[in-house]
Amino acid sequence: MHTVKLGLFTLLLLLIGTQGAVADECQLSIDGNDAMAFSKKEMTAPSSCKEVTITLKHVGKMASNAMGHNWVLSKSSDFKDIATAGMAAGLDNNYLPQGDERIIAATKIIGGGESDSVTLTLGELSADEEYTFFCSFPGHWSMMYGSFKII
Ligand code: ZN
Repeated sequence: MHTVKLGLFTLLLLLIGTQGAVADECQLSIDGNDAMAFSKKEMTAPSSCKEVTITLKHVGKMASNAMGHNWVLSKSSDFKDIATAGMAAGLDNNYLPQGDERIIAATKIIGGGESDSVTLTLGELSADEEYTFFCSFPGHWSMMYGSFKII
């Protein structure tokens, strides 16, 4: 009995410990490279953050018109449609359909050595919804995507 109580108490302490929000938790970063890959397949944002800033860094060398990357967030059910529509939008529009309200957040398309950030308000997202981040450069979304979760 005593052991069980102690176990629960420890668990509680662990939970409290991981939920203590510090500013850094609201700053997320991810890399893209010349091999058409993101450095992460999953990103999580603490629900305690009011806003989350995502910084995308292109750690490769190739130019934006050859191996460009952006970081786009949408509901998982919308991401393939947006990526397909984005192909026709062209580099000048960051390969995204302009004015598309399904796009929750997006950086611009960047090339090797560049970086760009985007800030989103977590209150506009739901912890029950599934979100996907992806690169909308033509052909990249089949490899460059991952899940975005609020925890
Ligand atoms: Zn890309």
